[in-house]
Amino acid sequence: MNKEKIILVIDQMAVAMEKQKEFLTEFDNVIGDGDHGINMARGFSEVIKKRDSLAKMDAGDMIKNLGMILVSTVGGASGPLYGTAFMKAGMFLRGKEEVTYPDFLQAFACAIEGVMARGKAAEGEKTMLDAMLPAKRAMEQEWTLSGDGKKSMEAGLTAAREGIEYTKTIIATKGRASYLGERSIGHQDPGATSFVFLLEAIASQM
Ligand code: ADP
Ligand code: MG
Repeated sequence: MNKEKIILVIDQMAVAMEKQKEFLTEFDNVIGDGDHGINMARGFSEVIKKRDSLAKMDAGDMIKNLGMILVSTVGGASGPLYGTAFMKAGMFLRGKEEVTYPDFLQAFACAIEGVMARGKAAEGEKTMLDAMLPAKRAMEQEWTLSGDGKKSMEAGLTAAREGIEYTKTIIATKGRASYLGERSIGHQDPGATSFVFLLEAIASQM
């Protein structure tokens, strides 16, 4: 993926966050404080304001700076968490003008590590990680098997969507939703849901 494509991915992410604002907020209304969609849409609208300066950077700096914008403009847990994810991915991609699929997979792994370190969460705690980690495993597996980036991405999306379903079955033990305890069962995690939309935006430009 070249820089022009990456900018188009960022545009798509912003469009998706705006479009899904109400949808994401609805889930956060049930198990959180009802701001996840608003947080994400606000963050990406700030990113779009800086689109021209981002476009001048190399791929790594572009993604790192996107993360910094999210950290500084998004309130709530998701700002620092997604912000760290993009910052770590960007740092891994430092100096690159193009991102190959293996680069992307490694950057994604760095992003997840960043989220885990920042949020001190693991799989099974009803967070965005329950979509991210299965997606990573499925993408790596399909890439090893077929070497086909599109297929790998499809496998990742399927696993991430299954991850959303899984979050309905478990109790939240991290973030605001953990205050609900058992009452969080039956509801999907907003962060896992927004992650699928972001992954779809990446897939749309492949
Ligand atoms: P807040 O919970 O502060 O209102 P948001 O509503 O924007 O922030 O984001 C909530 C989402 O953040 C959750 O749905 C969950 O996916 C994610 N999240 C919360 N805490 C953590 C954590 N410690 N680790 C990973 N993800 C988390
Ligand atoms: Mg919230």
